Amino acid sequence: MSNRSGKVRVAILGATGSVGQRFIQLLAEHPLFEIAALAASEKSVDKPYKSAVNWLLSTSLPSHIAEMKISPCLPDLPCDLVFSGLDSSVAGEIELQFAQAGYMVHSNARNHRMHSDVPLMVAEVNPDHLCLAEKQSTAGKIITNPNCSAIGLTLALKPLLDRFGLESVHVVTLQAISGAGYPGVASLDIFDNVVPFISQEEEKIEIETLKILGKSVNNQIEMGKFKVSAQCNRVPVTDGHLECISVKLKSAASKQDLIRAWNEFEGIPQQLRLPLAPLHPTRYFYEETYPQPKLHRHLDKSMSVAIGRLRECSIFDYKFAILSHNTIRGAAGGAILNAELQVSTLHNSKLNSHSSS
Ligand code: NAP
Repeated sequence: MSNRSGKVRVAILGATGSVGQRFIQLLAEHPLFEIAALAASEKSVDKPYKSAVNWLLSTSLPSHIAEMKISPCLPDLPCDLVFSGLDSSVAGEIELQFAQAGYMVHSNARNHRMHSDVPLMVAEVNPDHLCLAEKQSTAGKIITNPNCSAIGLTLALKPLLDRFGLESVHVVTLQAISGAGYPGVASLDIFDNVVPFISQEEEKIEIETLKILGKSVNNQIEMGKFKVSAQCNRVPVTDGHLECISVKLKSAASKQDLIRAWNEFEGIPQQLRLPLAPLHPTRYFYEETYPQPKLHRHLDKSMSVAIGRLRECSIFDYKFAILSHNTIRGAAGGAILNAELQVSTLHNSKLNSHSSS
């Protein structure tokens, strides 16, 4: 379903939350997608969006969105594609209902991520996993966006895996408060503090990384054959997850080889001109105090991973730090980029079948 300007009409489920607000910010002026409906829980239904939301972003709430009425999360919305920023306590069932009713669902929730027929996609890392969705028996399909820390991590690991192979990965995360949604962590728990526990986060990073960096063979994923160990901390930063990573490689490489691998990593071909695709998905900084949330979370439309502090490690081969924006690259922006890729792949395959018929 597209509008007169040819844009694809979309809805946002969980439009009032942390991730939902980012969807609105990134889709309000999007060249391929137009917001046709907003949906959230019973407490928000029938209210104008401006009354249901506590708008937390520094850009102002677009006026045409402010007046839109919130719909229930039922599969009768006037569009073909939905972006879901639903809480995982309800996302599993609601997203499935939308897929059964024929909608294309791009989800941020954990519920369907590890199903064998569901792509767990980072557009630049594993676009070939998209074909898994063909195995889903529903009329519509579910495509999932990984855990926010796993997205930054796999973007940084992919160029290393391709060039040198990976044996083991250890990661310690310092994750921003917005990653816990809104209102999220109580201020008295996080102000002047660091909390060394985020429920199920370590498990998600460890398993999702192996699926994302796994190989698609005959429409099945062979999980990555390296070890991943994660430790997660919540820190008093608004947006931007920092991750301290140690890697053991399969083949020998110099520091310059690693830096070249990151700086030359192209990701999505530029000729596809996807609006949210960063020019450089991974970028290395030589400054010894980089990367930092305040300085680098908005790098390249907030879609790039900033990398720094590469040095040799006496236990693994190398250690370094990365920074990525959790609600943009790690959630709404990542899901939109997956949808841009999917829509453009469909469009190109239609063009090819027309030209060959
Ligand atoms: P959030 O701020 O708590 O927002 C949750 C949204 O779900 C709200 O719009 C809420 O609507 C809606 N909702 C809750 N219960 C509902 C129900 N019974 N029926 C319909 N809608 C319901 O959470 P978030 O941080 O945006 O996260 C959203 C999802 O993305 C989660 O699954 C999370 O794990 C995932 N994620 C988050 C991040 C991040 O950095 N925050 C990153 C990656 C993935 P009301 O306002 O009406 O209650």
